[in-house]
Amino acid sequence: MRGDGQCKVCPGCSINRPLSEYGVSKRDGIRSRCRQCERLAKKAGVWSRGKSKGRTADQKRRYYLRHKEQIFQNVNRWRQANPDAARKYLARNSAELTDRYVRWRLSDRSVVSADQWPQALVEAKREQLRILRALKGVSNEEC
Ligand SMILES: [Zn+2]
Repeated sequence: MRGDGQCKVCPGCSINRPLSEYGVSKRDGIRSRCRQCERLAKKAGVWSRGKSKGRTADQKRRYYLRHKEQIFQNVNRWRQANPDAARKYLARNSAELTDRYVRWRLSDRSVVSADQWPQALVEAKREQLRILRALKGVSNEEC
């Protein structure tokens, strides 16, 4: 998918970087800015995509609740179109036991009701997953 040894100048930092330092857009292309610039911009809140621009966490949450069926479908479609990326994404969330991942596990792997769990329960579940992993001695995505 990505050409080896190819480089491209990032408009954000003006550094000529190998393509491996750029994210891949969902439409099967290389992003215009390098990962570092995207991360910085996101952190600063300067650069955000289209509709989600300037939304507060609360607005995002309400948007999510209103459109979650559709979001769920989009996620599924993306997952089917990009099985490798989806697996990597899951593996990372699984390895770090992110809130998102733990909530998803609490919901029995269904995205739809993943936001209903109180944070205390999420923490407890995370602990449980950690203990189970320690017992099994594994850290793969199955657990
Ligand atoms: Zn850059």
